[in-house]
Amino acid sequence: MNKFRVHHIMCTNLYKGYGYSGPFCENMTKMVSWLNENQDEPLLLVTHPDEICKRCPNLVDGRYCVDITNHVQKKDEKLLEPLKLNGNKTYTYRQLKEHAQKYLTKEVFEKSCSNCEWYDKGLCRYEDFDWK
Ligand code: SF4
Repeated sequence: MNKFRVHHIMCTNLYKGYGYSGPFCENMTKMVSWLNENQDEPLLLVTHPDEICKRCPNLVDGRYCVDITNHVQKKDEKLLEPLKLNGNKTYTYRQLKEHAQKYLTKEVFEKSCSNCEWYDKGLCRYEDFDWK
């Protein structure tokens, strides 16, 4: 079963083809298409690196993210409660989107994303989410 880290619910929805490196973008594009085509496949919701992180240049030893300004693990953990999700549980991508559509407020988004470089570049905005 594919792992899926919590904050990637937002990243996969707002993804516009930009990323940390060529291999990262290739993998991200592939994963976003796969998720959209397989919305009822089970995913293990995690607060650590997942399939998308595998090709990220910030990932060391397959386990540690060196992007210390973005605090990604804390970001995942802090999103669980407002989105009414449980870590290490199985959800489909469709169910994750339903939770985000119902429970992701602009305030939660801003708090979670405002220290991310893609937010800084103006590529991720709450108004652009499309949960259909
Ligand atoms: S701002 Fe960063 S963490 Fe938030 S959705 Fe965009 S890429 Fe993901």
